[in-house]
Amino acid sequence: MHKRLFIPGPVEVRPDVLARMSTPMIGHRSKSASALQAGIADKMRTLMYTKNEILLSTSSGSGLMEGAIRSCTRRRAAVFSIGAFGDRWYKMATSNNVPADLFSVEPGRATLPEQVEAALATGAYDLVTVTHNETATGVMNPVDGIAEVLRRHPGVVWCVDAVSSLGGAKIEVDRLGIDVCITSSQKCLGLPPGLAVCSVSEKAIRAAEQVPFRGLYFDLVELYRFVREKESQYPATPSLSHMFALDYQLDRILAEGPENRFARHQAMAGRVRDWADSNFALYSDPAHLSDTVTCISNTRNLDVSALNKRLGDVGYTISNGYGALKDKTFRIAHMADATLDDVNGLLTAIDALLA
Ligand SMILES: *Cc1c(COP(=O)(O)O)cnc(C)c1O
Repeated sequence: MHKRLFIPGPVEVRPDVLARMSTPMIGHRSKSASALQAGIADKMRTLMYTKNEILLSTSSGSGLMEGAIRSCTRRRAAVFSIGAFGDRWYKMATSNNVPADLFSVEPGRATLPEQVEAALATGAYDLVTVTHNETATGVMNPVDGIAEVLRRHPGVVWCVDAVSSLGGAKIEVDRLGIDVCITSSQKCLGLPPGLAVCSVSEKAIRAAEQVPFRGLYFDLVELYRFVREKESQYPATPSLSHMFALDYQLDRILAEGPENRFARHQAMAGRVRDWADSNFALYSDPAHLSDTVTCISNTRNLDVSALNKRLGDVGYTISNGYGALKDKTFRIAHMADATLDDVNGLLTAIDALLA
């Protein structure tokens, strides 16, 4: 039996979207490939509220995260981490010999604007990374307040990991002033894994041009140059299959209406939080809860793997905690094309098992 995925990626993919992956192949230097990229870029700009260029990468989101921090850090990066995925950005920096400092908080907490201001006030940094939505703890960072801080530091390039939220929560890239905003196909966009998407500002590209060694495959300047100057194509062969599916899915997303889509995510999050509150406890700071994934404290000391196995028998999968939180928490994702009815079905199934 297929187990419906309520894990924070990969998510359930609609059959009609999946079917687009088997569109007959085209040449990656053809006019059709150019038109495909150009169409995707226009639609992504609408979804991201930006006029910036849109770049795709045939990798998961981590590829563009590594590319961004390596390409755009001229002097030193300030990495604001609120969990596993923020920490990953720091590892990407150090393993590429990019000077960086890690600013962490207690798990379950958010990055606060004051913390960013204090770091930037030292004048030591010309790049900042922030996790929009920490999937390990179900925390959504207050990017509005962080944006105000960044506005006072115009020389700093701002990179945002929106992997587990873009397409499920409103992120107004231009209003916030985000220079590189990154997401992956397999989370709120509702596609199979294997493609990463980012918006990139002119400012980020101008910064990257001053960095002598940017690698090659994830060099943002090279990707940008090809999309801009080589008829919306890529230096290497992109996953055209993903692009067909993304183009189609973006039509669906825009037809649903981004605002409606975000409201649907909020409704699902609200339902899961209420359920968690009455059956367990929410793990994270209630002021900064995620709209796309909920992290629940395992107050009943359940064997989550055993629960998941039994859930599997009735056609569902949820997620255990991430890393050190493996048995202390479990997570329910409410992302992409899942509906409130789907979430109700899942919670009813869990209730039946707990009874
Ligand atoms: C899933 C995830 C990543 C990693 O993305 P991949 O597409 O697996 O490389 C990074 N950051 C966050 C917040 C995520 O949820």
